Formats: sequence, structure tokens, C-alpha cells
Amino acid sequence: MARRRQIYEGKAKVLYEGPEPGTLIQYFKDDATAFNNQKHAVITGKGVLNNRISEFIMLRLGEAGIPTHFVKRLNMREQLIREVEIIPIEVVVRNWSACSFAKRFKREEGERLPRSIVEYYYKSDELGDPLITEEHITAFGWATPQELDDMFNLALRINDYLSGLFMGGRMRLVDFKIEFGRLYSAEDVRVVLADEISPDSCRLWDIDTGEIMDKDRFRKDMGGLREAYQEVARRLGILQEGTSADITSLDDVKAEEKKADEAKAEGTKADGTKSDDKKTD
Ligand code: 5GP
Repeated sequence: MARRRQIYEGKAKVLYEGPEPGTLIQYFKDDATAFNNQKHAVITGKGVLNNRISEFIMLRLGEAGIPTHFVKRLNMREQLIREVEIIPIEVVVRNWSACSFAKRFKREEGERLPRSIVEYYYKSDELGDPLITEEHITAFGWATPQELDDMFNLALRINDYLSGLFMGGRMRLVDFKIEFGRLYSAEDVRVVLADEISPDSCRLWDIDTGEIMDKDRFRKDMGGLREAYQEVARRLGILQEGTSADITSLDDVKAEEKKADEAKAEGTKADGTKSDDKKTD
């Protein structure tokens, strides 16, 4: 299958040139990595689930007035996004203590924090994404004071919205990581939410049982990652039982992808509607 020009390949996603200037296609891989790439596995179906979950969250956030890079989902593994200049900072919001944070401050795992805490990490595999302060960000010019202000305010609004959204599915949003980008237009430059929001980048615990429903299942060798992500999607109302999007096995994923490829070859979308996408693969 002829592919578009690849712009960038990350650990869990690939970016391709989009159909129009100023757009990109974000492809979700099945790769799972942890501990700065020291641990790696392929978990069949993860990319498909993250594509759906991230689409759902970006759309809900967009409706709530949060500017995002998301345009639309194209197929099982790809979404059309606006091209942005990624700000090289991981913004983490924490509501409960967990893992590295619990260790750093000698706090119990699962302790409710006095208030939501926003942290910044410099995106650098070489340096292991070090924790940084606002001083580092402005001194090194990674973001302006105004952009920092925008990111901080957006991060807290996103946290409020998502905490409620997950609560509706009896899930606790323990913490999450987000990234922002600069969206350039003829008139101005705006800070918008970029990348993805999925169980790869959030800690989600079942409110009633405490069960881990996120990438920590992979980090801690617990297994059952795909099933957990599927359960997150089900609780958000994304996957209804018995629909074609209900990814239960490797065979299901392969069958879905074959269907999508055939549909593309016929110039139709996987959902059966006529395609007017300018995608070329
Ligand atoms: P921690 O700093 O406790 O390891 O992570 C805090 C939160 O941010 C967790 O929900 C974790 O999944 C997310 N997070 C931190 N760094 C990364 C990263 O490099 N990639 C992804 N996908 N998530 C991250």
C-alpha cells in the first residue's frame, strides 16, 4: 500500500503529511514502551483503542471550549490533525499520589492531594524527561510567560472536565500527561492541546475496586492491558457490545483493518459512507 510521506515517528505514534497544507495524519501504533524505552512490547489492538479514546476525549474537550489540534478520525488507526509546533514540555496534572510522585515525597499511593498539582517535565529522551520549573521554561525559551500561563490554565480546565468525564464511568483520574503546540494562522499564534489523551498517558483507577485500567498494567507486568483499555472505552460509551468497533481479539483487529483497506480501495470509508477524504494510502 502506497504511504504518505512520514514526518516523524515516536514511540506509540507516527505522523504523516496530511492531505492539505497545515494538516497531518496521526497514526496510532500498537507499540507500548516504558521507562524511557527500556521496556517495549507490541499489544495488538492498543493503537485502535487509543485512536478511538483520544478522538472521543478531544471532541468532548473541544465542545467544552478547549482548543485542540484534532480535526477528525479517518479510520481505525488514523486521525487528521492540525499541524502545530510542539512545545517541548510534558505537562502533568496530579490529583492523587502515585508511583514516582508517591516515592519522591514519601506519600502513600492513592492519597488525595490537597489540590490538583501541575508539574512540567522537559521532553528529552536523552535527559530522561527531567522535572523542571517555570524558571527553566522561560529562561531557556521553551515557552513564553504567556504560553506558560495558557498551558497552566488549560491543564486545570482539562483536569476538571476529564475528572468528571471519567467519574461518570466510575473511573478515578489519578494523574495524566498532556502536550501543547503552537497553532499558527495568518492572524495569530495560539496554544492548543496536541498529541493524545488515552490510557497510555493517564492513570485511571476503578473507583469501586481500585483496579488499574491504564498503562501501569504494562509498566508493572500485570497483563490485561488491551482488556483494560477496552473497558475504559466501554465505560466512556465509545464501544457498544457487538459493534464492529468492539476489538476483542487479534482476528477482530485484522478483520477490521482488512475491511478498512478494502473500503479505501473502493473509495468508501470503513463505516460505509462515501469518502471525500484526500487521503492517498
Ligand atoms: P509519572 O511522572 O508519575 O511517571 O507520570 C504521571 C502521569 O503522566 C502518568 O499518568 C503517566 O502515564 C503520564 N506520563 C508521564 N510521562 C509520560 C510519557 O513520556 N508518555 C506518556 N504516554 N505518558 C506519560
